[in-house]
Amino acid sequence: MHLLIPAAGSGSRMKAGKNKLLIKLKNESLIYWTIKKVFLSKYISWVGIIGQQHDKDEIMHSIKEFSDRVSWIQGGDTRQESVRNGINNLPINATKVLIHDGARCLIKPELIDKCSEELKLNDALIVALKVTDTIKVANENQIIKETPDRNFLWAAQTPQGFLVSKLKKAHQTALDNGWSVTDDASLFERLNLAVRIIEGDSTNIKITNPFDLKIASLFLETN
Ligand code: C5P
Repeated sequence: MHLLIPAAGSGSRMKAGKNKLLIKLKNESLIYWTIKKVFLSKYISWVGIIGQQHDKDEIMHSIKEFSDRVSWIQGGDTRQESVRNGINNLPINATKVLIHDGARCLIKPELIDKCSEELKLNDALIVALKVTDTIKVANENQIIKETPDRNFLWAAQTPQGFLVSKLKKAHQTALDNGWSVTDDASLFERLNLAVRIIEGDSTNIKITNPFDLKIASLFLETN
């Protein structure tokens, strides 16, 4: 299975003054932990890291244990552009691909295994978690407009996995039509293509702000 890791963000919400994936947790970079977990999955044979040129040396140095097993791909200005570059630089024999955000360093290898197995049977899937909070939709003045039925709400995570040919087409259509999305499944939804949900687990958080970093740190110390 081929797997792409978007890692080209700036981490502005972390306020660390650098790519959050380079922040140290338990003496290693955040992206080191993500990649370590990825290579513990029994199905992953090829990994592409999508990053900014100015982070390349530091990222590659921090994951030097795996550097001969990963390919570097130039990132873009948005996650969508980064992923587009990633899929355009997959090896020719890649028919299906998993995409896992570099910022989800607590991913369990077993969950990647499960996604790999399910992706053999499906053209599109995402890991997601049932929402436990009651979610409100509000207008720009923070006045609530509606409360969707929680039974149908899922919080999207990664990995997300796709048939490469369909994903390439979806990204091209998005580019042609100026669609802007925050995950790849959204493109499939807009094209009315089915996306299967794999129930994830609550430890697979995306490290976004300093609080998440503390949680990840505690988790890595005790596991
Ligand atoms: O910013 P956010 O945490 O939502 O980004 C999700 C993932 O997408 C991160 O791993 C980040 O490095 C990546 N990303 C990217 N290229 C961008 C912006 C974000 O690869 N231009």
